[in-house]
Amino acid sequence: MSTREKTITEFMIEEQRRFPEATGDFTALLNYVRLACKRISFIVGRGVLAGAHGSADIDNIQGETQMKLDVISNDIFLRTSEYGGHLAGMVSEELEDPYQIPPEYPLGKYLLAFDPLDGSSNIDINAPVGSIFSVLKAPRGPQPPTVEDFLQPGSKQLCAGYAIYGATTMLVLTVGRGVHGFTLDRGFGEFILTHPNMTIPAEANEFAINASNERFWEPPVKRYVAECLAGHGGVRGKDFNMRWIASLVAEVHRILIRGGLFMYPEDTKDPSKAGRLRLLYEANPMAMLVEQAGGAVSTGRNRILDLTPTHLHQRVPLILGCKAEVERIERYHWEHEQGLDRIYSSPLFKERSLFIQS
Ligand code: MN
Ligand code: MN
Repeated sequence: MSTREKTITEFMIEEQRRFPEATGDFTALLNYVRLACKRISFIVGRGVLAGAHGSADIDNIQGETQMKLDVISNDIFLRTSEYGGHLAGMVSEELEDPYQIPPEYPLGKYLLAFDPLDGSSNIDINAPVGSIFSVLKAPRGPQPPTVEDFLQPGSKQLCAGYAIYGATTMLVLTVGRGVHGFTLDRGFGEFILTHPNMTIPAEANEFAINASNERFWEPPVKRYVAECLAGHGGVRGKDFNMRWIASLVAEVHRILIRGGLFMYPEDTKDPSKAGRLRLLYEANPMAMLVEQAGGAVSTGRNRILDLTPTHLHQRVPLILGCKAEVERIERYHWEHEQGLDRIYSSPLFKERSLFIQS
């Protein structure tokens, strides 16, 4: 048995050796992404001492208030990743348009999409936040990218991952051959492979949804949650626990470690928005990770990775986690569209006028 710890760089070199034609560009690109995550981890970890808490007093492209750490993290991602010569361009949740690599650096053949700081409302309460990233091939090679270059279905991602800045900092990554987790050793500043081949358990006992939006949910989601809440005596025949951390990174991390289901479904709260989470920076990278870990990811009606984005900041409904649970919710959406759930006859649903009237 080997006692030698494997660093993330060694892991990437081993992946690269499997492909004799590989140039090492991709490994080098990920080195910069990983460095950006370490830099953000350091600042987040210093907390108020870094002088970076609180609002930046500006709104981002999504109309949301930016925190100082959103702005700083975005800057770290851009400054760290632009340098290496591996990128044709980047898009960020915090920027309206694609970021063009400054002329002093060479252009490369990859595109990077990222959410520099996910769950930033968790900063002040010292709860987990993270960074999410996705790597695509630049369809027109090393030249300044257009918006259209980024509008590729998630199934075309070469790599996806996140860093979670919690009690420990971890980087969780897929390059299309499973999902692997690395823990930052703060002593010598390197990510060590600690969670090889992360797999989502086949059975779920937990679900996560923002229950304060219940009145806006569609009937299939109301049905699913009501059945979970009915517990042992209901149609599911077992008890569920509910979780909600309000940070996608933390929700997905929990699901990769111990299973369950996360939902930010389509709702009627704001008809102009089909969902809350962004396709390019949040849904697609998490979908690649969750599918690679044996789970499923859907809007409720379609597989996320099959969607062709229509614009950079597109939002989508997001249901992810345990495969059987995601398939169940997809079936509930289908049954609802066929009008089949109106005849659902359990006593629970007789109380719910929604299911017996149109
Ligand atoms: Mn986010
Ligand atoms: Mn963010």
